[in-house]
This record gives sequence, structure tokens and C-alpha cells, in this order.
Amino acid sequence: MQHTLTILGATGSIGRSTLDVVRQHRDRFRVAAVVAGSNASALGKIARDMGAEFAALADGTKLADLRAELGGSGIACGAGESAVIEAAERDADIVVAAICGVAGLGPTHAALASGRRIALANKESLVCAGRAFMRDAAEIGAEILPLDSEHNALKQALAAGVIDDVLGMTVTASGGPFRTWTRERMAAATPADTAKHPTYSMGEKINVDSASLMNKGLELIEAHHLFGLRADQLDAVVHPQQIIHGLVHWRDGSVTAGLAHPDMCVPIADCLSGERRLDIAARRLDLAAIGSLTFEAPDEARFPCLRLARWALEEGGAMPTFLNGANEVAVAAFLAGRIGFLDIARVVEETCEAAASRSRPAPASVEEALSIDAESRRIAVSALPRTAAPALAGL
Ligand code: NDP
Ligand code: MG
Repeated sequence: MQHTLTILGATGSIGRSTLDVVRQHRDRFRVAAVVAGSNASALGKIARDMGAEFAALADGTKLADLRAELGGSGIACGAGESAVIEAAERDADIVVAAICGVAGLGPTHAALASGRRIALANKESLVCAGRAFMRDAAEIGAEILPLDSEHNALKQALAAGVIDDVLGMTVTASGGPFRTWTRERMAAATPADTAKHPTYSMGEKINVDSASLMNKGLELIEAHHLFGLRADQLDAVVHPQQIIHGLVHWRDGSVTAGLAHPDMCVPIADCLSGERRLDIAARRLDLAAIGSLTFEAPDEARFPCLRLARWALEEGGAMPTFLNGANEVAVAAFLAGRIGFLDIARVVEETCEAAASRSRPAPASVEEALSIDAESRRIAVSALPRTAAPALAGL
């Protein structure tokens, strides 16, 4: 049976891996719409290659470029926020939500509100607006398939029992490129250093989040929303080989784990599978060749972002929304060379401290979440060094 697919964030790392899987099964998928931020040339090529019906760019100034790219193809296109929402709402069986950051929240929610099945990579949607997002999904009956490798492994492991018998869950972390670095060395880290991820090739924002372990903190919050577990039921362990991705601990002492080579095509293929699994060109796991799997507790003194994210999860209310907005500002400032790597945690902490005094409930809607996100960004920008603030005022 043929499935119709829309890809939000088609030109990114997850988008490209999704296309990799689709190209291996062209007969099984038809592409409805593809969306990107501003890269008209890459999006145009993807739309042509996939025979998409519609292509949309978030950047409204790039419409002429996209039109020129698609000239003669018959593929409809648009640019700007409404075009992205139009793409997200288009009829499709599965929407791969792989826009980076809170920019993905509106389009992903629009797809969900149209009843689409969502293959969710955009963890920031859940961190920012998890309660509203999951409530709306349940009301509408829209299915959310976890695409993040850890959560996908957990979802697969959960099939071994029922959620009421789960004591807890563990997500694994590679430890990132700074796993063995001292704080002194991290103080001088550059954006290029964060791109040297040991196992995955990813977008620049998640590279920084992986280096700071904020990514793992965001994933604990993501797991809380996806599986309905409390903060004290969720933990993270560093596992540099990245063979085990997630573990479900059952009440009888059994543990079910999800294993695979670290290759995002594997969880993507699971999300795109119907009743039968997709046959893709994935390496077969050979444990004897790997030899040993190692584990260590994450060091929250060297990686305070993980501590802050866990605290935000325990605190609840709007704190994760504040944490996420501040992190996006701090990561952008770091990538722009305006603050140091260690300043990321400082900016997030200062923002969360300011937010703590406001004690706000979890956002009840996407609009409310975006408004708290904007408030968080304002606080975070004011926590940046003065030289960094003006150019980042629009963040
Ligand atoms: P990338 O930076 O590689 O790609 C981001 C994508 O989003 C690009 O297609 C980009 O388009 C598009 N985009 C950016 N801004 C907008 C916008 N305002 N509106 C519409 N589209 C936009 O990111 P990744 O693929 O690495 O990550 C995407 C998401 O998946 C993130 O939430 C990340 O946390 C999550 N994830 C990623 C994993 C990975 O291995 N990479 C693993 C697990 C989760 P353009 O090219 O035009 O800028
Ligand atoms: Mg992950």
C-alpha cells in the first residue's frame, strides 16, 4: 500500500535521512509536501526528485528563487508562514516533523490538528508545549510516533508489556564531543568543536545541545510527555558506543532495551513502516565485533545544562518552556561567536531563575507556549553580554 508523506524540514539532517529511506522504497511512498527554512535551491531539487505536490519555504523573501528552481515542473509552491502551515495541513498519511527548534511547533501542531500521524523529531515542540500538544493529539486521535532514536527505542521496547507495569525508563547519551573535556577546555570550545559528534552527523543546533548535554535534558522532558512518566522515573546514562538507545524497566525486574547501530535511518524506517517493517540498507548489529559496551553516569558538574533541564522537568509548569527558549537564544549566540560555550548554561540558568519567581502554569495552548517562549527569549537576551545583545535582539 502506498503512503503519502509530508516532510517538514526536508533539507536538514533528519529530512535528508528520511529521503534516504524513501528513495529505497519509492513505490511505497508518495510525497505530498516538503518544507524548509530558506534554502530554495536544496528544497527545489528535493521537490523535483520526489515529485512532490507542494513545496514551501518559511522565508517569505525567497519565493521568486523557489519558483525559479521549480520552473516547468508543475509543482506548486509558496513562501512565508501561511505557506508552511498550508504544507503541514495538506492531506498526508504521515508528517515527518523535523524543523529545528521552536520554529517547528506551529507547523507540527497544525499537522496534528489536521489529524495527521506525526513522526516527531522536533523535540522542542514537546519541551515547549508538551501538555497542550499531547492533550490535543489525544482529543483529535492523532498518533505521535517518536522519531528521536532514544524514544523510538523506548516505544519499541514498550511493546513487550503495558505502560502500567513500567517502573522507569533510561535514555542513553553518547556523551557528546566534550565527554572527556575539562571545564577549562570547554571554556574555549568553538562551534566547529561541537560539530565533531562521535556518532551522528546532525544540524548545528542539536550539535551544540549534544555537546552541552542539554539535548539529553530535553529528551527527558520529551520522554515525560510521550510516555506519561514522572521525572523520578526517568534517567540518562552515558554510553559512548551508542548501540543501546533506550531501556524500559519493568516492575518484575525485567528490562527491555532497544538496540541498533547509531543511524537515524533506523528509527525513521520504524516510523514510516506500516504493519510490516521496511527493508532498508542498515548495518547488521554484530556485538562480538563491537566487543564491549560501556556506561558511565553523566557528570552534571561539568554539564550543568542536564541538571538545569532535569530541574525544569521536576519544577513543571512553564519552566521547560522558559528553559527551551533561553537555550535557543544562548545556542544562537554561541554559534554566532558572541558568547563562550560555558555561557550557554549561565544564560539558561539566569533565565530560569527569573522565571521561577513568576511561577507560571504549563501553557494550555500553542499560542500561550509561543508567548512564554517570547518572554523567555527577552529575558535570555538581557542575560547576554551587552556586546552580544543588539544583534540578537530579534531572537
Ligand atoms: P537541521 O538544522 O539539519 O535542519 C533543520 C531543518 O529545518 C532544515 O530543513 C531547515 O531548512 C528547516 N527550518 C529551519 N527553520 C525553519 C523554519 N522557520 N520553518 C521551516 N523550516 C525551517 O536540523 P536536524 O535535522 O538535525 O534536526 C531537526 C530536528 O530533529 C530538531 O528538533 C532536532 O532536535 C531533532 N533531531 C535531530 C536528530 C539528528 O540526528 N539530526 C536526532 C533526533 C532529533 P533550511 O535548510 O532552509 O535552513
Ligand atoms: Mg536523541
